[in-house]
Amino acid sequence: MCADCGQPDPCWVSCTLGTFICCKCSEIHYQIPNISEVKSIKKYCWEESQIQFLAQQGNALAKATYEAHVPAYYYRPSYNDCQVLREQWIRAKYERKEFQEPKKVLYSNGVLWKRGRDNQIYQPRRFLLSEKEGCLKYFIKQDAKEPKIEIKIDTVNAMFQTEKMMHSNGLQITHLKHNKTRNIFVYHEDGKEIVDWFNTIRAVKFHHLKVAFPGASDEELKTRLTRNFLKEGYMEKTGPKQKECFKKRWFSLDHRRLMYFKDPLDAFAKGEVFLGNEKQGYKVIKGLPHAMQGRFTWKHGIIIVTPDRKYIFTCETEKEQEEWKSVFSHVMEQPMTPQEYASKFQEDIFILFSHERLKTGDRPKVVADFSLGVLPLLIW
Ligand SMILES: [Zn+2]
Repeated sequence: MCADCGQPDPCWVSCTLGTFICCKCSEIHYQIPNISEVKSIKKYCWEESQIQFLAQQGNALAKATYEAHVPAYYYRPSYNDCQVLREQWIRAKYERKEFQEPKKVLYSNGVLWKRGRDNQIYQPRRFLLSEKEGCLKYFIKQDAKEPKIEIKIDTVNAMFQTEKMMHSNGLQITHLKHNKTRNIFVYHEDGKEIVDWFNTIRAVKFHHLKVAFPGASDEELKTRLTRNFLKEGYMEKTGPKQKECFKKRWFSLDHRRLMYFKDPLDAFAKGEVFLGNEKQGYKVIKGLPHAMQGRFTWKHGIIIVTPDRKYIFTCETEKEQEEWKSVFSHVMEQPMTPQEYASKFQEDIFILFSHERLKTGDRPKVVADFSLGVLPLLIW
């Protein structure tokens, strides 16, 4: 396997590091010739000493040296990850030798370019990530004392979105507020800086989870630090009466939350569909109701049935339709956790209380002890 990304059957070699790597990683090694000299296994003639070195070193020994102290929270990219993550992983290991000694990253404070919520313009904003307070803040002015927003770290998720943001160092940070997802889009000109921010978010979240769930293993906690969307892309949708025009929307599937946006980089979703478990009456069907013929441009339909209503979507191609259907089925096959029940319940409560007739000014607080696996309790 490739020493850097785990891709099977590597056919390149770093003669100086003594590792076997894949073609994609060899291109990154090629950019740091003072550290790594790459050769194709097939193409080059070999000197006896080079073969001997490779036989002695190899991936396992290199890993023991260069990955001796990779922190548990640190993100190890795979073959499919974006360029900036893979390149910075290789540079961190071999060029900066970051993991040869224990690492200490406890907070970050610096400037990131942030996309304006409504004006779409990227502007420099000071961000502060505090482990002590367990939160991420940002400030409009460099010297401001009061943050513009303060986000609790347990509601934060982060993922690289280089294609969607059309920036090679683009990072999407999301957080939940009143059970709604807020998207924040940031980047840094320097690849190392943005990857450091990403890993520091993971580090702060890791420490926070360790305190919240003292019994959980590092392996278990690692899977809960950040997650990528399961799928994103355009579909068309119609409204609740199913007589409305079909409109093209950008969809993001964040596990059980299917969000849709007018523009992929909008700060808030126009709407969300919760995907529960099939045993609770959630179902996905390929196709369209017959009566609908002729009112949409894309013809590959998908119907999501929930206990409340039916959602009708159309995809541009059959391939897209297949992919969406399979990812929806996959989510619906998984049993719901107590947190997911709570999130669905909370959503219903907020819909109920945001209704005009029920607006009392005071909203109930939803309190839950997830560790005991109980449903939320309303405190008035
Ligand atoms: Zn690789």
